[in-house]
Amino acid sequence: MRKIPFNKPYVGQKEIEGIHGAILKGHVSGNGYYTKICHDFFREKWGFGKCLLTTSCTDALEMCALLLNIKSGDEVIVPSYTFVSTALAFVRQGAKIVFADSRSDHPGIDEDRIESLITPNTKAIVPVHYAGVPCDMAKIMAIAEKHGIVVVEEAAQGINAYHNESAVGSMGHLAVFSFHETKNLHCGEGGLLVLNDANYVDRAEIMWEKGTNRAKFFRGEVDKYTWVDLGSSFLPSDMLAGFLYGQLQELELIQRRRLEIWNWYFEKIDKYLEDFSFQKPTIPSYAKHNAHMFYLVCSSGAERSKLIEHLRRKGIHAVFHYMALHDSPFHKQGLAEEGIAEGSSLRNCLRYQDCLVRLPLYFELDLEYLDQLFLG
Ligand SMILES: *Cc1c(COP(=O)(O)O)cnc(C)c1O
Repeated sequence: MRKIPFNKPYVGQKEIEGIHGAILKGHVSGNGYYTKICHDFFREKWGFGKCLLTTSCTDALEMCALLLNIKSGDEVIVPSYTFVSTALAFVRQGAKIVFADSRSDHPGIDEDRIESLITPNTKAIVPVHYAGVPCDMAKIMAIAEKHGIVVVEEAAQGINAYHNESAVGSMGHLAVFSFHETKNLHCGEGGLLVLNDANYVDRAEIMWEKGTNRAKFFRGEVDKYTWVDLGSSFLPSDMLAGFLYGQLQELELIQRRRLEIWNWYFEKIDKYLEDFSFQKPTIPSYAKHNAHMFYLVCSSGAERSKLIEHLRRKGIHAVFHYMALHDSPFHKQGLAEEGIAEGSSLRNCLRYQDCLVRLPLYFELDLEYLDQLFLG
């Protein structure tokens, strides 16, 4: 029996041409021809501000923490139901993470409960567009503006999703994306930092280039190239940018297929899993999601285990993921060291941790064969 894996990264011919192109141009380090045309593509297609490709979304988040001068005593509001990197980048700069719960109808951050978490030390809110379903950015930006707080859109999963007419990543002061092979568009490992607030652009360019003013030097704006700020080596090779540019050219094709699969699950899954008790995803009315993920929320943890085992016997690999960050060994150890009592239980987040299951969703997924497996 041929099995259905959970994921298979899509690679077309244009990706290979992009890598080859970067080699032929003779510039294979960062910030070459393909990096620039990727940046142009992002700005034109999604209305982003200044763009800087990075080696990962984690790196782009670390750049945000540096840009915001996050230091010990600062607080950053992050959903607990997310990948480690969302919190880790800020913790590395000494921030205290204030974990927010998910919505009851969606794993994304509960926008209505953000304001109660704000204190005079709050520096940033980092909403995660979970499953490529946008958070209510209108609400979040209004809260941030009222309190003078920066918003970093954590859009690792959010490329090509929209909040009404605005692309995810075009609304926050800063935004980050991932091009890891598990995402809709990828280059193996890669990321993007978007600077919609122009005040951050000069420093971000410097941090991107190891704390030097190399970019200004090459533009002829300064006559020496020297060490001027903090930074690191955040640029990906232009070969990876060439690969990514291949994916960008195939964006419509990739997205059309993913949406087709997502809709197929949404329509058929009740019938295929009629012996199980679960809820399907809810999409808010303002949201155009990007079919990053198809998940079910089972009625209990035991029900989820039964469902995963049922699918495994049919040759279908379903998985679950995030363990609530507020409940993680690392976070609890930090609290214990500081003698702080553990906070609230974040009920919705724990429910997704225990009950959410993800079904296979990738470009080459064979729906006719999957049909047979479900019915067989
Ligand atoms: C994938 C993912 C990341 C990490 O992305 P990298 O590019 O691997 O650093 C961060 N946050 C979320 C929500 C993700 O899904």
